[in-house]
Amino acid sequence: MSQGHDFQRVLVTGGAGFLGSHLCERLLNEGYEVLCLDNFYTGSKANIAHLLQNPFFEVLNHDIVQPLFLHVSQIFNLACPASPIHYQRDAVHTINTSVNGAVNMLGLARRTGAKILQASTSEVYGDPEVHPQPESYWGHVNPNGLRACYDEGKRCAEALFFSYQRQHDVLIKIARIFNTYGPRMHPDDGRVVSNFIVQALRGEPITIYGDGSQTRSFCYVDDLIEGFMRLMATQDEFYGPVNLGNPGEFTILELAEMVIELTGSRSRLVFHELPSDDPKQRKPDITMAKAELDWEPKVCLHDGLLKTIEYFDKRISNPIPFNRDMAA
Ligand code: NAD
Ligand code: UDP
Repeated sequence: MSQGHDFQRVLVTGGAGFLGSHLCERLLNEGYEVLCLDNFYTGSKANIAHLLQNPFFEVLNHDIVQPLFLHVSQIFNLACPASPIHYQRDAVHTINTSVNGAVNMLGLARRTGAKILQASTSEVYGDPEVHPQPESYWGHVNPNGLRACYDEGKRCAEALFFSYQRQHDVLIKIARIFNTYGPRMHPDDGRVVSNFIVQALRGEPITIYGDGSQTRSFCYVDDLIEGFMRLMATQDEFYGPVNLGNPGEFTILELAEMVIELTGSRSRLVFHELPSDDPKQRKPDITMAKAELDWEPKVCLHDGLLKTIEYFDKRISNPIPFNRDMAA
């Protein structure tokens, strides 16, 4: 491993988002110099405000759809809206972010010799017909549905990563992230955990899409960040893709009941139409992560929800403006 100032410089795209802000914090704690890049589409300055006094932390307001020329030794490519309501709001830009953004970040990795990790997703499996999902499953994705801008963008990004590896010897790592939750999710993010907690704390109806029998597996953010760090540290020959997620599987109704119990809320359940192409089931097979990264999640849903509820409780009683886009 080479030493010195440059080796320690890490670029985190999407660094002001939910996962990105936790990753920046972890990297700084481990002694890295961190360049946080974000266009603040769904991210927030509030997420990184506590890092701004650190002399080893820099922020760059930039859109990865545009090329970037700088020198770094590692890149974590997280930039991309992750919640269905946000990635569908400007579907063309979502595809652009995943595809042209990946080309730009891979070009940067190629020029500088940096290792690059892609935040891919369980959405590459679509509405899976194999359960649980191993990395070898090719998926069941509608290529032109409402979720395609995200799912197919991420699939194309994986193809680009492997092409740059084969053609240009770029050092790549691909994490397929399953639903992850925790503090610093945006209160209006739209994803199920933040929606249910915010609704329960405000005493508003809990919005169940469909009959709530669809399942998801929920990973606490600290576990996921540990998985990122371990994946980036694997030997150069290991590229993944590797599933990172918590194999505990819950129906959306079970999640709602747990949130109501843990918040002590009197919110009632209301049922809305299921969005199109909403996957019926999802659960990671983490055999590969256990073998290659010696990783498995440590935080159960009950404990992770308690920490997340505590965060939103403070947030709701002390609102901080996020950014113009999200407030609009
Ligand atoms: P998030 O929306 O909180 O963070 C995404 C960040 O990327 C935001 O700060 C946003 O402003 C920024 N961004 C979006 N488009 C950009 C662009 N073109 N240029 C620069 N910055 C841009 O979401 P998150 O949950 O933190 O997700 C981070 C990454 O992990 C995403 O790539 C997402 O697809 C992936 N992922 C997350 C989950 C999850 O459950 N959290 C699951 C699967 C995959
Ligand atoms: N969901 C729900 N109510 C909400 C938000 C989401 O019932 O207020 C459902 C959604 O239809 C999906 C699941 O919860 O079946 C997870 O949704 P999320 O948007 O968090 O993630 P994804 O669908 O991308 O896994």
